Amino acid sequence: MKKEILKEYHQKRNFNKTTEPFRANSKKDGEKIFVIQKHDASNLHYDFRIEMDGALKSWAIPKGPSTDPSVKRLAMPTEDHPIEYADFEGLIPEKEYGGGTVMVWDAGTYRNIREDKDADGKTIAESYDDGKIEVWLEGKKLQGGYVLIRTVSGKKERWLFKKIDDEEADARRNPISTEPDSVLTGRSIEEISKQEGEE
Ligand code: MN
Repeated sequence: MKKEILKEYHQKRNFNKTTEPFRANSKKDGEKIFVIQKHDASNLHYDFRIEMDGALKSWAIPKGPSTDPSVKRLAMPTEDHPIEYADFEGLIPEKEYGGGTVMVWDAGTYRNIREDKDADGKTIAESYDDGKIEVWLEGKKLQGGYVLIRTVSGKKERWLFKKIDDEEADARRNPISTEPDSVLTGRSIEEISKQEGEE
């Protein structure tokens, strides 16, 4: 078990009440951040974002990630987001783009598996261009290898998101339903919506 970074800092603060930063910069060499934001917009979906070239490459996954390696999930590419967006949890005004409630459903760091020893040495940007991204996630809910594969190119670009069959794969887990709340504040979508709406 890893030592919890900023444990005392987190214990002293109620992040439901304060807007102070929560995330530790726990990145080691070669590690970059990822985040999965649960987004209750016109359709509930999960925005998977990974740090790449100073921004967050993003995909919307309507059904959310699965820890079962036999399950493929549709992932639709969306526009790059700023790195700072990884900490955003709150409300987007109803009439604005993406209007609705945003929750930090999972967050952590990732490693590019293709750059590992004995792999093909492709950088994350080369992997993106290739249409095959393999990342090892160290999140609070998701761990282990995940693969993104581009299945349709062009205007209607589509990708598939899938757990790699490794020691972290688990067909019995279903974190979308059993761990629905924020890793940042512990809040549910309803609580975020209510509390942020009151401000
Ligand atoms: Mn979204």
